[in-house]
Amino acid sequence: MLRELLPELYLGWDNLLLFAALNTILQVPTWYFLRKQATSLLSEIINMHITWFGCLFLCELVERSNRKANEQATHLHRVGFYIMSQLIIHFGTVSWAWFTSEVRYSHLPHLSKRQKNPPLFKTIAYLIMGSILDGLTIYVMWRISPDKYDIHVNTGPFTYLSQVISIGALVITDFNFLFWHGLLLHGPLWFLHKHHHSNYRPTCISGRVFDPLDYIIEVDFTFIALLVPFVLILKPLGLWNSYVLSCVGVFGMYFSTIHHSGKADVPAPFPGMLPWSELVSSLAVSEDANALALHEGHHNWISCNYGLFGFADRLCGTFKHAKGWENHRDKNKKA
Ligand SMILES: [Zn+2]
Ligand SMILES: [Zn+2]
Repeated sequence: MLRELLPELYLGWDNLLLFAALNTILQVPTWYFLRKQATSLLSEIINMHITWFGCLFLCELVERSNRKANEQATHLHRVGFYIMSQLIIHFGTVSWAWFTSEVRYSHLPHLSKRQKNPPLFKTIAYLIMGSILDGLTIYVMWRISPDKYDIHVNTGPFTYLSQVISIGALVITDFNFLFWHGLLLHGPLWFLHKHHHSNYRPTCISGRVFDPLDYIIEVDFTFIALLVPFVLILKPLGLWNSYVLSCVGVFGMYFSTIHHSGKADVPAPFPGMLPWSELVSSLAVSEDANALALHEGHHNWISCNYGLFGFADRLCGTFKHAKGWENHRDKNKKA
């Protein structure tokens, strides 16, 4: 059944096993340094594989929709398939992030008491809005990119090595997000971002609230600025594969949702196919904080923690612990 669903898997089945084996080994230190008090190693490894494979499945669907878009004769059809690929990403990743945070890890406490979620229809409307804006963004990128840097033209296979290299994009994205986010927070554009900050203690669901222009600046500009170095670095190395585009979309959206969970100990994979790489960013924030607590702190205090992973905030001196962090840390120390 699975083989039928994933017949043209870019990784190939051999490569898939290689990813699975290396990720399993490298997830052990991640669990040890980040979550050994909160979850068992078995639970960590099971969750890692389910999330990783689920995202991989979404990547495959997204890749197919993007490829269909590229075969279309009319621009309207093309845009339609791009939006379709984004709908898959938004609904797939948000559902899974919600399930992970609120069902799979329901026993883990929030850093502080949560505010109410918006009604379901509103959440669905925000997801559809985000999908349309992301789909249009990919269309615009395709229209303006010179032939040589066309994001749909591959220069090589999709490999573990290309993913490891792309970890560098974490740092670039972090500074880039700090810039756009800072612009929204400290200037005449604050009125756009205010709505997203109506919730001081967000959840995976309430964190999806964005005004359209806020979404374009905060999410789509970051997405574009992330893909540019990816393409510029990986293309000349012969390691660019359009599958990276799908991975950035899927894992980026999964991360964006889960970093609003308000639970510091939920696993939060970001770059492409390497779940363990969250360890890289967590060590950068400090040995006693992580990327999830970072964004929780941003919603609590607003004028701190502008970045995504902590590198940029550490360097700019804008890092601050989330509310309830001391409690959380003390409990973990006692355990
Ligand atoms: Zn913000
Ligand atoms: Zn937020």
